[in-house]
Amino acid sequence: MKNLTLLTAALQLFIGSFVLADEEENKIREAMPAKPTAKPKKTKKVLVYSKPSGFKHGSIPTGIKGLRIMAEKTKAFEATFTLETTEFTKEGLAKYDMIIFNNCTHVQKAFTEQIQRDAILGFIKSGKAFAGFHSASDGGMPQWQEYTDMIGGCFAGHPWNAGGKWPFFVEDAKHPVNKAFKQKEFSFSDEIYQYKGYDRSKLRILIGLDSVKSGKKGNSKTNDYPVSWVRSYGKGRIFYSNFGHN
Ligand SMILES: [Zn+2]
Repeated sequence: MKNLTLLTAALQLFIGSFVLADEEENKIREAMPAKPTAKPKKTKKVLVYSKPSGFKHGSIPTGIKGLRIMAEKTKAFEATFTLETTEFTKEGLAKYDMIIFNNCTHVQKAFTEQIQRDAILGFIKSGKAFAGFHSASDGGMPQWQEYTDMIGGCFAGHPWNAGGKWPFFVEDAKHPVNKAFKQKEFSFSDEIYQYKGYDRSKLRILIGLDSVKSGKKGNSKTNDYPVSWVRSYGKGRIFYSNFGHN
């Protein structure tokens, strides 16, 4: 009898997880715009790498789901999802327009060969694009300094934990990426980083953390904690978002 109760409970949990998964998918689908903000002349090809080599975030599947739905609805790009590093050669990357690192912590452990590293950075420098979600910046230096130089900063702890709700502000209201934000200030629950190897003068900051209002201190003497940014890298373009733990 006890076993039957346990079995029923397990079965309910199992079914429950499917209902939750569907709810998340439906929420993403509803929130996703039907049209791209900027329509590309040709459908872009995006390679999404989602294997963590350090901390494994539970939000990795959410990132995949979000990108899959975005590709389906906007038709702005086609996404190829991979957990392998085999495509990251000069020839392998040639068929793509963009690389996305979806919460892949400690990339320096995944891409150890100089030839792979050169292929990735050379791809971006040649005029292609790169986007990094959350722990994409948790890695790089000192073993792969050039990666940190490219993405714009390296994780140096998170004084703002994932369980808290933190105050943010739109720093660059003119940038099209920030069009989604209707208010100049907002609060949001996520894990927010402080950085090392970060130089504001090289980046165009989109969203910042209001650390004074947050009541917590980090490593910056000027209370400078950018949360998302864009930048040029060679002829290529970079987008990074610290949001994405939750
Ligand atoms: Zn995290």
